[in-house]
Formats: sequence, structure tokens, C-alpha cells
Amino acid sequence: MTIDASTSIRSSHESVGLGTDQDNPLTNARSQLEAAARTLGFDHGMHQILANPRREMIVQIPLRLDNGGVEVFTGYRVQHNFSRGPAKGGLRYSPHVSLDEVRALAMWMTWKCTLLDVPYGGAKGGITIDPRQYSRGELERLTRRYTSEILPIIGPERDIPAPDIGTDEHTMAWMMDTFSVASGYTVPAVVTGKPVSVGGSLGRSSSTSKGVVHIALAALEHKGLNPARCTAAIQGFGKVGAGAAELLAKAGVRVVAVGDQYGAVYSSKGLNIRHLAEHAGRTGSVAGFAEAEPVPSEALLELNVDLLVPAAVEGVLNRMNARKVQAKVIVEGANGPTTADADAIFQEAGTLVVPDILANAGGVIVSYFEWVQGNQAYWWTEAEVDERLEHRMLAAWHNLLETQRKLGLTLRETATATAVDKVAKAHKIRGLYP
Ligand code: GLU
Repeated sequence: MTIDASTSIRSSHESVGLGTDQDNPLTNARSQLEAAARTLGFDHGMHQILANPRREMIVQIPLRLDNGGVEVFTGYRVQHNFSRGPAKGGLRYSPHVSLDEVRALAMWMTWKCTLLDVPYGGAKGGITIDPRQYSRGELERLTRRYTSEILPIIGPERDIPAPDIGTDEHTMAWMMDTFSVASGYTVPAVVTGKPVSVGGSLGRSSSTSKGVVHIALAALEHKGLNPARCTAAIQGFGKVGAGAAELLAKAGVRVVAVGDQYGAVYSSKGLNIRHLAEHAGRTGSVAGFAEAEPVPSEALLELNVDLLVPAAVEGVLNRMNARKVQAKVIVEGANGPTTADADAIFQEAGTLVVPDILANAGGVIVSYFEWVQGNQAYWWTEAEVDERLEHRMLAAWHNLLETQRKLGLTLRETATATAVDKVAKAHKIRGLYP
């Protein structure tokens, strides 16, 4: 593929400086990589190859508003690595999207895909926009223009986007349609997380939550806790948090607190998740739920519960609050919710942290199943998808525990080192060109 030099694609090996800001997710992602590189005894060259994205594209997206005006947004697609296969990762619409955030999320996708043995490298996309302020028509035009701008670098064999914060199956349908119109034929496998009616997989929409819950139940048991006697707090009531709350409650865990960006609610008896979901569906937030009492959002993370599931954004468990966290087990539904400082504090306190690259991998696993089904034009039943998902999640969990016992590291250090080692081996065996 030739890339027009006038586009903003750049190979970023020389352009990325090492961040220092603790709140920057890229600083966090890089410090995790650095620890793995040390464990694995990497030389400087291999560390640098993995610390920097392979390719980045920055696009300006002019959007025709419903009122006739025009607003311009910035969009990104970062492909961190594709040594083991096409790049893969979600597309985020949020006012907090920045290039460094997308870079960090893309790096985590590489480790996640590798750890779970799905044949992809990592990527991530984002547009800096608050999607709640725009109409459906505006979001469709934004998505189509963004897709057409990044067209040269995506495709079923190049890079396969999926939903993330602020995007959903409609976003994927518009991307698929835009890509297909440009190709002259329908290309379902260019995105995953599509509606089932246009080649999506059964079970994809609940897959991240299902994976989180398989791991959460296994982790509680590993800690000697009976899930039926455990309490949980969940931060985030979006695609991941709401599904996890429902499934944990179904498994007998008492979900006592749930929060979102507008507030948090608590009930010592356990929240009725179905009622809470109805309330949130009506009002747009868990705040104001009449069957529970309000608690400050920050307090949710510090409640005396057995299980804490951060299922919102990066950096919420950090040096400011980590010492106050009382949960015995933390299962990361979000990407990058724990900073390196907080990780050290949890290790000292004996808190079990199940890292994002395992805990929330259910989404990309079923994305992989969707891509396989699309490529073969042969669809599986929901039961088949669920069974294969559970098998992969639990096999990865047991492998991780076994490797951890050998290495004597934390679960995150073990998971990151395992994935980084596999990616480095792929680089070595392919060799350096030229
Ligand atoms: N956005 C999800 C994640 O962070 C899913 C990515 C995918 O399915 O490609 O893992």
C-alpha cells in the first residue's frame, strides 16, 4: 500500500517522547511495558519497537450540523503493532480523547489480543467529541467522514475497528457501509460489534460483561471467597458495567453499589439491577434511583466490599485513593483503570488485581469470533459463542495463575510480560526489514 505523504499518517518511531504525567494513560502503559522489558531482559531496540505505535493517523473531520453550521473535530487511529496479524481495537467518542490516550489504548489492545491468543495486533481510534450533544444524523455524518478519512489503513486484513466508549453497533453499521460503498461490495469483516442483521455475531454485545464475570467469579474463589456471600461495587453502568452488574447479581453476588459519571447509589441489601437498569434507561443515569441511597462517586471505589469492578475509564484508581480502597479483589472491566502507583499500593496490601488485558478481553474474543464468522459466511449459535468465550477466558486465567506461580510477579506483571514476550518473539522470527 502506498500512503500519500500529504495525509497525516506518520510512522512514529522517532516522534513519540516518553511522557511523565502520572495522569496520562500512555505513561502508565509505558511503565507497564518497561517492567516487562526488564523482566524479559530486552535490549533497548526491542523495547523501543514496542514502546511506540507502528502507525498513527490524525484526521480533521468537518461536520455539517443539523442547523446548517460546520464544526471541525479531530479523529485518530493508532495501530500499535501488527506483527501477529491485523490491528484490532475499538473506536471511542469522548470529549477526553487525546492522541496519548489512543496510543495507550492501542498498546493495551496488542497485549490483550496476544495474551488471549487471538491473531491480531492492537489498534484504537477516537474522536474528541461529546456524542450526547449531537443528533443521530450528525453522528452518522461524523462517523462516515471519519471512516472515509481512515479508509487507506483499515480493512479485514489491515485493521478492524469495534465499539468502545460512546460508540455502538449503529456506529459499526455506518463504518461498514461506508467502507463497503468505497470497495464496491459488502465487506462485513471490516468491523466487529455490528448489528446481527448485517453480519454481527450473536453474543457480541454481552461478551465483555460475560468475560468480566467469568473472571470475577474465578478470582473470588481463588481468594477463598464464596461468591454467594460476597458484595460488589461497580463503577460504570454502560455496556460493560450494566451487564456485569446483572450477571454478578444472577450469580448470587450482592451488588451493593453502582456509579456512573453523574453519581452513585448504594443499598446494603443489594441493588435490584433490573429496576436500576429501567431507571437508568428512563433518566440517563443511576443517580436518583429511589430504591437506594446516593453516595459520592469517589466513595464508591472505597467501599468495604469484596469485589470492585472499575468499568468506566482510565486512571480512576491512583495514588490519591488506592490506600483507601478496601475491596479484596479488583477486576478491571475498563481499560487502564489502575495507575502504576496504585498497583504498587495494592500489591503491598495484598489486594488481588485482575488486569484489564485479561478481565475485559471477552469483547475482543467475540469480535474475533465475529470476524471469523464473517470471513467464512457461516454463523454460530449464541450457545456456541458463549461456550467458546467461557473456555478461552478460563483457560487464559488458569494459564496466567500457573505462570504467575513460576515468575512470582503480580498478575498484571505476569500478563504483560507473557504478552510482550510473544509479540517480541513474532518480531524476532519475522526479522527486521530490510
Ligand atoms: N473496545 C473493546 C476493548 O477495549 C473491544 C475491542 C474489539 O473488539 O476490537 O477491548
